[in-house]
Amino acid sequence: MRIRPARLIGWLLGFLIGVVLAWLLSSCGGTAPPNEVRLPPLRPTVTPVPPTTPTPIPQAKVFDVPAVDWGDVSAFRAAMRPAFADDVLQFVDANRYYVVAELSIEGNVALIRGAERVRYTNHSQDTLDEIVFRLYPNFTALGGTMVVHSVELEGEPIQPILRARDTVLSVPLTQPLTPGQSAEMVLQFTTAAERGMNASYSMFGYHRDVISASEWHPLLSVYEEGAGWWEVRPPTNGDSLYHEDSLFETTITMPQEYVPIFSGSELETRDNGDGTKTVHYVSGPMRTSKLIAGKDYGVLSGQVEDIAVNIYYRPGGESAAEPALQFALDTVRVNNRSFGEYPYAELDVVETFVYTGMEHPGLVTASERWWERGNPLLETVIVHEIGHQWFYSLVGNDQVGHPWIDESLTVYTEYNYTLEVHGEKKAREWVQNYYDRYNAYRGRGGPDLPLNLSTSAYTDANYGVIIYVKGPLFYIELEKKLGRETFLKALQLYVARHRYGIAHSRDILEAFEEVSGQDLDAFFYEWVGWFDGLDPSVAEHAQTITQ
Ligand SMILES: [Zn+2]
Repeated sequence: MRIRPARLIGWLLGFLIGVVLAWLLSSCGGTAPPNEVRLPPLRPTVTPVPPTTPTPIPQAKVFDVPAVDWGDVSAFRAAMRPAFADDVLQFVDANRYYVVAELSIEGNVALIRGAERVRYTNHSQDTLDEIVFRLYPNFTALGGTMVVHSVELEGEPIQPILRARDTVLSVPLTQPLTPGQSAEMVLQFTTAAERGMNASYSMFGYHRDVISASEWHPLLSVYEEGAGWWEVRPPTNGDSLYHEDSLFETTITMPQEYVPIFSGSELETRDNGDGTKTVHYVSGPMRTSKLIAGKDYGVLSGQVEDIAVNIYYRPGGESAAEPALQFALDTVRVNNRSFGEYPYAELDVVETFVYTGMEHPGLVTASERWWERGNPLLETVIVHEIGHQWFYSLVGNDQVGHPWIDESLTVYTEYNYTLEVHGEKKAREWVQNYYDRYNAYRGRGGPDLPLNLSTSAYTDANYGVIIYVKGPLFYIELEKKLGRETFLKALQLYVARHRYGIAHSRDILEAFEEVSGQDLDAFFYEWVGWFDGLDPSVAEHAQTITQ
């Protein structure tokens, strides 16, 4: 590839900005600037790094993956609350993974070697000639390496095609896949994270004896009629994921001294007698499966209704674990009542080297920088990331194309928690604080952009303010307009209707119009901007007023 001078200068500039940013962050130590208190956990400006081709990693061994009875989903009931165990029956035909893997530390690299047996069902009306996977560790935002050594389709070897800087792996189909048909594949893979790796938000990597592996095995992409397979390479200023709910079953072997923490529930752990153990776990219907393994994790557990909430803390983090547990229990209790029930048996909150915090299905991380008793950002980050269990995890969406759908509602959950747990005075202050922030941004000349743009349509600074500040203010104004009871009923309808599914902007409008009986097209257009499902006359009318 020829490097264009402009791109080279861009990289160099990015690198310099990164060095300065890193210096500023490190010079802040563990204390947050006072003016950040009560603000949402905005993400840092991310240093663009030159894309690299993954380092060739030789395959150490070929893994056997047992045959799977795809019609039997009973094992996954263990990951659900008893009242929701039957929900797994809706996923008999869903995408499903059986992963066998080994985690090892070799020098300065954490390696996960393994294989997965995957069953994909074509739920579209189109006939497909390929099945597409995403190899997330190769994304700039994750900063790791994933190599797929071989692919079998229906028991026969097949040569996959890599695209989009090795973030897309296409399996060409020998027989077209008609609507309703399924295909079974086995992929042998290795995922690597170098020690000290700190890409993007530090959500993936190996640092201080902790391996934080997001999207660590090849994951099926989403096929949409009209749009085709989702192959976007997301910018690094927002979230990267777009997935349908799937069922995950995993057995992973790791050194005995590592504590495994993952999306889902453990079925059993076996001591192999050679310094390793093998953990067998299953998920409920979830979008991805997060894995963390670390030495010296302590755990403090509590219960809200019949949901087990576990706080995993690092040495020195014991005193913050108690308030962290209280924040988590209160958040789940408030959100269950406000938006609908969390259906999974377990929720983990994990202290890691993540920059602020990160949402994963059934598991959230919170930064070690804020992991201290009395630090208000610990409460904010736990409330925020748990809020994503409803808006991202339970109700999914294209986080790159329409980040407002999950992110703005999640920040609204912080307001809702503040009102329910700390009372009206604190909630009013929260709203005032957000208006002050928005007005300050506008005062600096920041543009009043619509909410419904893709992540790449915003600059880093605009993204942070429009999605994280204007977005929740939209919901607060909508709540004022409809009344709190109607507003929450509409959100409950939205969650009930799209739980385990994928929502679009029009689905939010529909739920609020249906419950309130009001025509809200003009209100939505004013704040959110144009989206498919709005009455076109609203946009035409708005244009005549502004002309
Ligand atoms: Zn968020």
